[in-house]
Amino acid sequence: MKKIVAKFGGSNLKKKEDIQKLVRVIKTYDRPMVIVVSAFYGITNHLIKSMEAVQEEESNIEKLGHFLKELKKEAILENFEDKEWQDKTLCAVQSRIKELNRYLTGIHYIGDVPDFVGDVILSYGERLSSLVLTSILQSKSIDAEEVLPEQMPLVTDGEFGNATVNFDISTPNVQKRLAGNKIYVVPGFYGVSEQGKITLLGRGGSDYSAAALARCLDAESLDVWKDVDGFLSADPKLVKTPQRVTHLSYAEAAELSYFGASILHPRTVEPLKEVGIPIHIGNIDAFTDSVKPRTVVHGKETVSECIIKSVTYSDDFCILKLRGAGVGVKKGVLAKVTVALDKAGINIKSVITSQIVINLLLAEKDIRRAYKIVEELELSSITELIASEQMSTIAVVGEGLLDAPGVSGRLFMSLAKRSINVEMIVSGASAVASYFMVSNKDRNAAIEAIHEEFFS
Ligand code: ASP
Ligand code: MG
Repeated sequence: MKKIVAKFGGSNLKKKEDIQKLVRVIKTYDRPMVIVVSAFYGITNHLIKSMEAVQEEESNIEKLGHFLKELKKEAILENFEDKEWQDKTLCAVQSRIKELNRYLTGIHYIGDVPDFVGDVILSYGERLSSLVLTSILQSKSIDAEEVLPEQMPLVTDGEFGNATVNFDISTPNVQKRLAGNKIYVVPGFYGVSEQGKITLLGRGGSDYSAAALARCLDAESLDVWKDVDGFLSADPKLVKTPQRVTHLSYAEAAELSYFGASILHPRTVEPLKEVGIPIHIGNIDAFTDSVKPRTVVHGKETVSECIIKSVTYSDDFCILKLRGAGVGVKKGVLAKVTVALDKAGINIKSVITSQIVINLLLAEKDIRRAYKIVEELELSSITELIASEQMSTIAVVGEGLLDAPGVSGRLFMSLAKRSINVEMIVSGASAVASYFMVSNKDRNAAIEAIHEEFFS
C-alpha cells in the first residue's frame, strides 16, 4: 500500500484542543503514514528574536525559557493522562532545549550568527513539535517513531536559509528509512547538505518538506491540514459570500500561493506536479469523522464557468522603477542590475519593462536595500530611481484565463466602476494568472469588486 504524507502546521499546534484534534485525525486515517509537523505556533518567530537578543545579553536565553514554559503547559502537561509519560516527555524536551541553549550561548560569545548556526537554531521549533507529538501518540498506544531529516538523510543543495531538496540522493534514503508499517513523525522546515549541515527550506517551508517526502515516497497523496476551509474564491474577511474551491490544477494552486493565498507554501506544488501526486487540503476545525479533503489540487486542468477560480492578493510586492530614456532598448542595463541584486541575495519577483522604465517587483523587506544597490551602480542610462512601497498586487487565477474573451474587460470595468486606479497590469506571463497593482488603500475594495463581478 502506498503511504500518505500528512502535514500539520503551527495553527494545528497552538493549544491542548488543537493537539487532541490532530490525534483524532491521525487515528481516523488508521494506516501507516508519515506525519510532518511545523513548529508550535509562534516559536520560529520567537527563536529569531532570541537570536538577536542573546547576542546582546546572555540572560535573554531565559526569556525564551518563559515562552517554552507556557508551551509546556498547553502541549505537554495537559495532553498526557499518564504521569509517567508526562515526566518522560518533559525530560526529553528539557534535554532538547539544553542543546538549543548551547547554540544560543555560542552565538552570545561569538557575537554573531553564522548562517549554519542560525539554521540549526531555527530548526529547534520543529524538533520540539515532532518530539512532543511522537510522545503523545506513543502514550496512546499508537506505533509512532520520530525520524529527524538528518537521520534519513533528506539531502539538500546546501543553501542556508532557503535550500532545495536533492531528490536523486534523498529518494532512496527516505524510502529506506521510512519503510516500516508505522507512523513516522518528521519535523518539517529543514534538510541537510551533502556535508551533513542543517539547511532550512525557507520560511514556511514545512509544506515543502512534506511535499518533498511525499515525492520521495511516491505517496498516494500529500494531505495538508489547515484550520480553514481549503482554497476559497477570496479571503473570507474581505467578501460576503466566499465560495469553496473544490478542485484546482497544480498551476492554479502554485499561482494562488505565489500571489498571497496562505493555504500552501508556494513551493509545495513543485515536487509533486511532475509525478502527479495530488494535494488534499483538509480543515481540522470542520473535522468530524472523515479525512475527506476540502480542496484537491491535481493534474486535471478544468475551465470553470466563470473562468476565475479565485482572487487573491499580496502586500509584499513593491516596485522599484528605473527610469531613463531608452532603458528598454539599451543592452546590459537589466543584466547589471539583476547581477548586483543577486549578489546581495535579493530575489526579484517579477520584471516588467517598457521603452523608458524598468519595473522590478521586490519584497518589501528588500526594497530599501535594492534602491541603494542600484543607486550605487551609477548607471548613466538611469536618470531616475523610484521606490514605491504602498502597493498591493491582486491576482486572478483560473485555467483558460488567457483564451476566454471578455474576462479582462469585465475585471477592469468592475474596478473602474468603483474609481479604483490600476497602476500596472501583467497578463500573459502565466497561462492561468493575471495580476495588477493597486494602491494599498484600494486593495479591499478591488477584491470585493472583482468577487462580486465574477461570483455573484
Ligand atoms: N516554522 C517555520 C516557519 O515559521 C516553518 C513552517 O512553519 O512551515 O517559517
Ligand atoms: Mg506554515
